[in-house]
Amino acid sequence: MGTFKPTILVVDLVVTVDWEDVLLIKRGIPPHMDKLVFPGGHVDAEDPEREIKADESVAHAGARELKEETGLIVDPKDLIFLTFFDAPIHDERKDARRISAALTVNLKRADVVGARADSDAKEIIFRAINSIHQCELGFDHWKAIPLLRHRINLARAFWNERNEYGLPKHACPAMTDNGWSNDIEIIYSFEAGGAFIECTESGSADFSERINLCPACGIQCPKPKIG
Ligand SMILES: [Zn+2]
Repeated sequence: MGTFKPTILVVDLVVTVDWEDVLLIKRGIPPHMDKLVFPGGHVDAEDPEREIKADESVAHAGARELKEETGLIVDPKDLIFLTFFDAPIHDERKDARRISAALTVNLKRADVVGARADSDAKEIIFRAINSIHQCELGFDHWKAIPLLRHRINLARAFWNERNEYGLPKHACPAMTDNGWSNDIEIIYSFEAGGAFIECTESGSADFSERINLCPACGIQCPKPKIG
């Protein structure tokens, strides 16, 4: 019969900036003090900011921890699951094993200018993803880096066509696999400043819904480069 050790779920926020840089904090507390890590912390049993006392969701915990450690505000709805940090690694805390859900979001450069280190963070560091070495990172956070590189490549290739009006279009490789009709397209409107699902049935084009993610492949819609 196996034995069980209590397991605590924690959450880490993997923030990219303009699909180029990664937000890291220098850890000010043990374990892994002075290592670079993604900001994060425990999923609390109670969210003090909510009037009705209830357990907070993993995404809410992620947004709260990011705010506490960096001052940055993100909408929990924009956070996307990336991976679990669950390697059996050295951690001097003996009370329980911690498994972290890593959530990711891409922010614009202008949205991160006010970032400041607080709480468990000694310092905030923005690093080009290709400049980060495995030995600099604490815990098993390195695991996110190849996944992030893959995500960044997908985001850069997202607007892979133009529609008949010259607007950036996402011709999604997953659409036919997922049973989508050819009458549905994802386009970017510079005027409206966002990505939209466009229904082109019977020749009439109509903006319908603004989206953050391609519902077929799940990739976050980046802002296309102009030109
Ligand atoms: Zn897609």
